[in-house]
Amino acid sequence: MAEKEKKNTFGLQFGMLKKYKTGILLFVLFEAIAISLWLTSGQLFFLLNFSYIGICISIGDILMVSQWKYAREFTQFTVGSYILVFLGLICRENMQIEGFWYYLFSGVVGAGVLHYAIAKIFGPLLFGRGWCGFACWTAMILDLLPYRQPAHPRKNFGWIRYVVFGFSLALVIVLMYLDKANTTTMFYLFVIGNVIYYAVGIILAIVLKDNRAFCKYICPVAVFLKPMSYFSLLRIKCDEEKCIQCGKCLKVCPMEVEVNKNSRKRKNATECILCQKCKKACPVGALK
Ligand code: SF4
Ligand code: SF4
Ligand code: SF4
Repeated sequence: MAEKEKKNTFGLQFGMLKKYKTGILLFVLFEAIAISLWLTSGQLFFLLNFSYIGICISIGDILMVSQWKYAREFTQFTVGSYILVFLGLICRENMQIEGFWYYLFSGVVGAGVLHYAIAKIFGPLLFGRGWCGFACWTAMILDLLPYRQPAHPRKNFGWIRYVVFGFSLALVIVLMYLDKANTTTMFYLFVIGNVIYYAVGIILAIVLKDNRAFCKYICPVAVFLKPMSYFSLLRIKCDEEKCIQCGKCLKVCPMEVEVNKNSRKRKNATECILCQKCKKACPVGALK
């Protein structure tokens, strides 16, 4: 009897571990980053910073698996507002793309460069555009608007992001060339840049009736995110044999991903923000 109970307890614990494996793995990954950076740099900031982000992301994932309605918003606000308010406004580190260029060209591997490397350049090989679905401080506000599913077909405006990307790079190069780039200038650029992003994002969402219009057409970060997330280990997979072609997943997808196909080449494949809405909508569990 006692043996049976022991087996049942072990089975239960193993089942829990399996259920929450993504959250646990993310926690371990962020702790590994936190501890390695702390030990190699000697800065306690890295330990606290990446531990905090890892804890928020893994709690968010566990809440999501437990089907709490606001799990994604929990992660968006705990991580997004921490980066925007604490790192950006209080610590005055430019966490936008201009900050990344500036610190990179200055040879300063601080929060800005590491943030880009982990969340937006190399991390997407592992967790795709999870940053866009769960942590971006721009999208955390845009997602509050009422246009959760795009009201019209996607426009052919994706080229704008490359112009914005080139402009941000040129702006930093010019400022550095003129010897006007310093932490104060970069702080004001961060504030102004965010005000512009929010204003453009909100106006576009209202005009195009699509909360994520800014992500689809304007955001320069997608220039990094798209090619890297093509190879992502974590992705929504479709069991095409199981799929009954009801189209419910396509209707709820905010990014118009052709998620009822399994190929990495499916339409808008590199736009998936891993929000999981399609999985919840699928009546036959074809999406994993
Ligand atoms: S595309 Fe840009 S604005 Fe949109 S969620 Fe991703 S990083 Fe944020
Ligand atoms: S609904 Fe599915 S396919 Fe669309 S962005 Fe969210 S996770 Fe990706
Ligand atoms: S919701 Fe499920 S069954 Fe319906 S089209 Fe999408 S993957 Fe297929």
